[in-house]
Amino acid sequence: MDKDDIKSKEDLLAHLGDDYDRFLGAIVPPIFQNSLFTRKTVNHGYTYTRVSNPTTEIAEMKIAALEGGEEARCFSSGMAAISAALTYYLEKDSHVICPRAAYVPAKAFLETYMKKFGCEVTLVSGESIKEFEQAIRPNTKVIYLESPLSNIFSLQDLKAISSLAKSYGIATIIDNTWATPLYQNPLAYGIDLVVHSASKYLGGHSDILGGVIIGSKQILESITNNERSLFGAVMDPHQSWLLIRSLRTLAVRMRQHEENGKKVAAFLEGHSQVSTVYYPGLPSHPQYELGCRQMSGYSGLLSFVPKGDKQQIMKMMKSLRYFEEGPSWGGFESLINSPGLWVNEETSLLSGIPIGLMRISVGLESAESIIEDLDRALIEMTR
Ligand SMILES: *Cc1c(COP(=O)(O)O)cnc(C)c1O
Repeated sequence: MDKDDIKSKEDLLAHLGDDYDRFLGAIVPPIFQNSLFTRKTVNHGYTYTRVSNPTTEIAEMKIAALEGGEEARCFSSGMAAISAALTYYLEKDSHVICPRAAYVPAKAFLETYMKKFGCEVTLVSGESIKEFEQAIRPNTKVIYLESPLSNIFSLQDLKAISSLAKSYGIATIIDNTWATPLYQNPLAYGIDLVVHSASKYLGGHSDILGGVIIGSKQILESITNNERSLFGAVMDPHQSWLLIRSLRTLAVRMRQHEENGKKVAAFLEGHSQVSTVYYPGLPSHPQYELGCRQMSGYSGLLSFVPKGDKQQIMKMMKSLRYFEEGPSWGGFESLINSPGLWVNEETSLLSGIPIGLMRISVGLESAESIIEDLDRALIEMTR
């Protein structure tokens, strides 16, 4: 397909980066499994895979277009992308504002690791603009966002926060892993950098680890030469090839995750053994309106608090047949994990994780089977 024929996100997922002339008519581009590129006779612009690689560039081209950004760069993991984006902006003694319930390793990078460079973090709920404004200090360099938060699914108002940040000369970064670039494009609201873990929905098959940063050409060129080349956490060509494979089906997979996620959330909300459901796609979600404004769809990761004590909830989790137990998400398989079983009143306040919170990643199985399984386990847990 010609570049000019690409009109939708589905088209570009399937075909952007096709280059049959360059790759001998291969319908699937080759894996350039090279560390080194020679330039003795012709210089093709490639030198060394830590700097750039033709296979990785196809994945980057697709993701940049999908996010509506000028450029994208792939990393060896989501955390590699997050730490590179943050260190692009942070200096000695910088201050960062971050949601309390942000992805735990991202928070640990800021609060624990960057502490040795004198960096400080103010944690906020993320739900009110006032909270952000009150947290701003003269040395605030970054407002780090994750919307929806991938455990309690509250949202941050991207447009309002980015304009507040701009008025103070503060940069904004968002972890957009939950919504995927299909359902939320934060650059359009003025956010400076978008990061994703490609290990979740972008990969989608629980077989790759990767990360990506999307933003302006100017910023990404600097990140390529500095944070990516010097820390060296680049995506390898085989991962890039698997990521391209996964991106081709992103739109169809996300439709199924969304349909299943909505059905499961609605079912749990109506269940007598469930006290609360956290899912931004439910009209009863306190920020439903904001979600409709800044997202065009919902994924299949949600959480809920069952009615019961720790033993009963544990029994429910162990008796599920369609759910494997594990902390990751975004793959074809349904998963459950139990962040709320390991917090007490004090750590619940610090982490923003409600006591008893169970998180499920609704997979690609049929919604009916998943719901039947949850229903049986929720009823049996009290026996
Ligand atoms: C998994 C995850 C990451 C980190 O991704 P890795 O590829 O595991 O490094 C970042 N943010 C969120 C929300 C995640 O769930």
